[in-house]
Amino acid sequence: MIYFDLRASFIFTKEISDLYSVFDNFFNNNTDKILSKNDEVGSTIEDFNINDNKLTIHLKSNQIVRANEALIRLKKELSNFIGFKFKIGIREVLINFFIIKIEADNGVDIETLPYVKNIDYENDRYIKIVFDTETEQKLTFSEIEKRIPDRIITLIKNKLEDYGGKNEHWELLWESEDKKFESNEDPTELMLNEGWIKRGYNRGQWIYGPEATYLFRTFEKIVLKELLEPLKYTEMIFPKLVSWDVWMKSGHAQGVYPEIYYVCPPKTRDPKYWEDVKNIYNITKEVPVDLIKEKIDVPIGGMCYAQCPSFWGFLQGETLASDQLPLKVYDHSGTSHRYESGGIHGIERVDEFHRLELVWVGTKEDTLEQAENLKKKYNHIFEDILEIKWRTAWVTPWFMAQEGKHGLSDMKDAGTVDYEALTPYNNKWIEIQNLSINANKYTKGFNVKSQDNKLLWSGCSGVGLERWAAAFISQHGLNSEKWPKKFKEYFKNMPKGIKTL
Ligand code: ATP
Ligand code: ZN
Ligand code: MG
Repeated sequence: MIYFDLRASFIFTKEISDLYSVFDNFFNNNTDKILSKNDEVGSTIEDFNINDNKLTIHLKSNQIVRANEALIRLKKELSNFIGFKFKIGIREVLINFFIIKIEADNGVDIETLPYVKNIDYENDRYIKIVFDTETEQKLTFSEIEKRIPDRIITLIKNKLEDYGGKNEHWELLWESEDKKFESNEDPTELMLNEGWIKRGYNRGQWIYGPEATYLFRTFEKIVLKELLEPLKYTEMIFPKLVSWDVWMKSGHAQGVYPEIYYVCPPKTRDPKYWEDVKNIYNITKEVPVDLIKEKIDVPIGGMCYAQCPSFWGFLQGETLASDQLPLKVYDHSGTSHRYESGGIHGIERVDEFHRLELVWVGTKEDTLEQAENLKKKYNHIFEDILEIKWRTAWVTPWFMAQEGKHGLSDMKDAGTVDYEALTPYNNKWIEIQNLSINANKYTKGFNVKSQDNKLLWSGCSGVGLERWAAAFISQHGLNSEKWPKKFKEYFKNMPKGIKTL
């Protein structure tokens, strides 16, 4: 249960001292409109009093009609009534105090929230939220109208669900036959030793030499010939600097902050403004990063994280012609960046990676059918061309995971299949790609409609080239003689690498 306790004052444009019985009648006659929902009483008016031009009212409620909701209704009904009958207006609504108590078996580890003075776990029974009604940061009627208290309740409920053991979901769907592996080595070490790759200057970044690059391009060629061309996907170029607007609509703004590489433009491009930085560098030969920090603006967004969200700007607010559906596109025009957890990882977990991203849009039936077509093609690629040991699992949908949520989607048929491969050297499984049915999450978020007004769904699938390489090399080794026959037909000849002395 959730309990609400709210006291607020309505400031009128005129004196109302002699209207006590008018208000009393008004409240008695309008309880249904203001305090109930489907004949169930949610809120009660505990008491009210009048002083000059001020009406102060004390509301208590459960969640059927939350006190904050009752206050909004009250303002609407009151201003109609009093305006019409007495030509008096409501000038302002002041919040005197507002407390919400959420019944819970445990507290949540939140110390501060906007508009909240204090949040505690009380008597081993309630999470008690006391709103700030005094300082500059106080909750005003405007925040109540913007549903801020309701969002705070949702946030706390989500936290409580996480504590309730709603973990990252993982359920095996299918696993390939066991195989004899050609290698038992760490693929990153193998490639490093042969000079196929070198560490980049940044954390989790590699410079791929001709052989490794050619391997990536071969993977892409296989996907192109075996999947994208037969299934009629067309290429697009998605932006790789992603603005907050996109992440607000895609849901990433709800949770992705610890992993973003942020992008900040200069405060001005006036050369004079940057003169001192240039001079300091030229004299000391050190880049004055603290000074630069002062001269750059707030982040406008971040580097590509999930690849498909910035595609949706192309369709935002548009209506898709029926003959366009299902729409099938892909992008492999640039890098993705994530601030991964620290420590040294091989190429399988990097801060800068390369991925081919597929997006399809259509009716629910189309979307599900396309997903099945893709699954068949992937199966063929992994079984008959790459010949790797792999498996699939039904997992927490990625659009939820990236909002910081766990569990499964409430929406039937929506969700994510992870594709995993075994790395024999450590006997671990790594996610090499995924395939998601995103229901109407994106078409709704970006307001995309179809000509015949059918509900549009979408799906996406991200093929991680570093992950494919890690799986392939760890299972087949670096000696291309020993690679699977069909793969060699695609690969043809190893390019000449760069040898140093
Ligand atoms: P993991 O749990 O292995 O970190 P993830 O769930 O974070 O993977 P997604 O967010 O679903 O991965 O990203 C889709 C695909 O992008 C992954 O299947 C993988 O191929 C690739 N990918 C994601 N993060 C990385 C990374 N740090 N390095 C290389 N590839 C990555
Ligand atoms: Zn995607
Ligand atoms: Mg990850």
